[in-house]
This record gives sequence, C-alpha cells and structure tokens, in this order.
Amino acid sequence: MVINKLLSFKTPKPQKNISNLDFDISRRFFLKSLSACGVILISGCQTQPTRDPYIPKNYGGSDLIIPPPVDPIPQVEPVSDIPWNWYPPRGVEKNWTAIIVHHSATETGNMALFDREHKNKGWDGVGYDFVIGNGSDSGDGEVEVTFRWRQQITGAHCKTPDNWANIDGIGICLVGNFNNRRPTQRQMDALVKLTDFLQKRYRIPQSRITGHGETRGAHVTDCPGDLFPMVAFKSSLNF
Ligand SMILES: [Zn+2]
Repeated sequence: MVINKLLSFKTPKPQKNISNLDFDISRRFFLKSLSACGVILISGCQTQPTRDPYIPKNYGGSDLIIPPPVDPIPQVEPVSDIPWNWYPPRGVEKNWTAIIVHHSATETGNMALFDREHKNKGWDGVGYDFVIGNGSDSGDGEVEVTFRWRQQITGAHCKTPDNWANIDGIGICLVGNFNNRRPTQRQMDALVKLTDFLQKRYRIPQSRITGHGETRGAHVTDCPGDLFPMVAFKSSLNF
C-alpha cells in the first residue's frame, strides 16, 4: 500500500493534458500524412513506373525497350599502291638486312631470259630477287618478282667469302649496261619505290644499300656500271 501510494504520488496521471496531447499528436500526424501524400502525388507525376521485380530480367515483353540492331562498322582496306607480289609469303619471310643493286650488263633482257642464262651456268635459276625491265624484253620500269623472293631463299647475285650478301641481302637487277648508258627514268622510279618498300619493311638503313661492286667482301666488279646514279638514288630515299 505504501509503495502504491508512493508510486501514485510520484507519477500522477496527467488527466488534464491527455486530450490536448492526443489532439496535438493526431494533428501533427494528419498534417504529415497530408504532405507525404502530396509528395507522392507530385513525384508520381514525374517518375516512370518501376518495373515489376517479379518479371524476370530476360523477359521480352512489349514493355521493354529493345535497342535496334547495330549495323557492323564497314571494314576499309588500307589504300596501297604496292603490288601484292612484292609482299613475301607468310610463314617463310626472312629477316633481310641489306639491298644490293646490279645491272644486267646487257642491253636487253628480262627475268625469264636471265633465268635460262643462269641455269645454263649450273645455278638453280635466276640469281636475283627482283628484275626491273628497260622496255626491251619486259616493260620499262616493270618489276618482275623471281622465285627466290617468292620462296625467300638465298640469292646468287653477290659472291663474298662468307656468302653473307646472298644470304641476307636482297638482289635487285636493272636491265641494261650502265657503263654505256643511264638507266631509264621509269627504271629509277621503280627502283626507288621498291627500295622504299623493302627498307621500311625490314628497317634497312641507307648504309646497307650498296651497288654490287661496293658491297663488303664482294669480288671486284664495276656493277652496276659507272653511269648508275648512286648519289641521286640514295638522296631520293626517305627512310
Ligand atoms: Zn652485279
């Protein structure tokens, strides 16, 4: 009893304030609810309806936006005026390190004629990798590609004691005797274009581009002839 009395004394029931408090709480709750409804109504106008979470993601229903098919990007071939047969076949390409320029020391000729001539010497065929015609037996400035280049095999155009020039050097022969006359303009244009292609492909410096007679270890020869314009040729190279 004493405890009850003490309790009742310590915690008097606030009879008078309950109604006011309830009203206050109800009012606040009402106002808050009202403003929340307003927010929902306003925001409902601005946002898209959310997707039903129970619809699987791969559902292809009409409510999904399916992107249109994308056209593949057209493949553009690089523009190049390099003849296809200047490129060595895949898989057998050698790491060439030098270019050696020759003349045929004949007024006329072409790859097939030199091939026959060299076979008559007991070789396995024309000794060069490329032959550039002068308009006699092939076109003026026409570049013929020999079996040696196609097969990427050792040449037979520049003998040295260790045969390095035939093993590592690319042999280019211009038809003509350049002790008697200069090569044609078209021959030189073709030679510059071919040399430029080979230089860039194998990163061959100008110091490794030589006439036959000035090649390291080569036998004494005046090839490619006194009138071959070596200085002008080298100055027209860009690599
Ligand atoms: Zn030569």
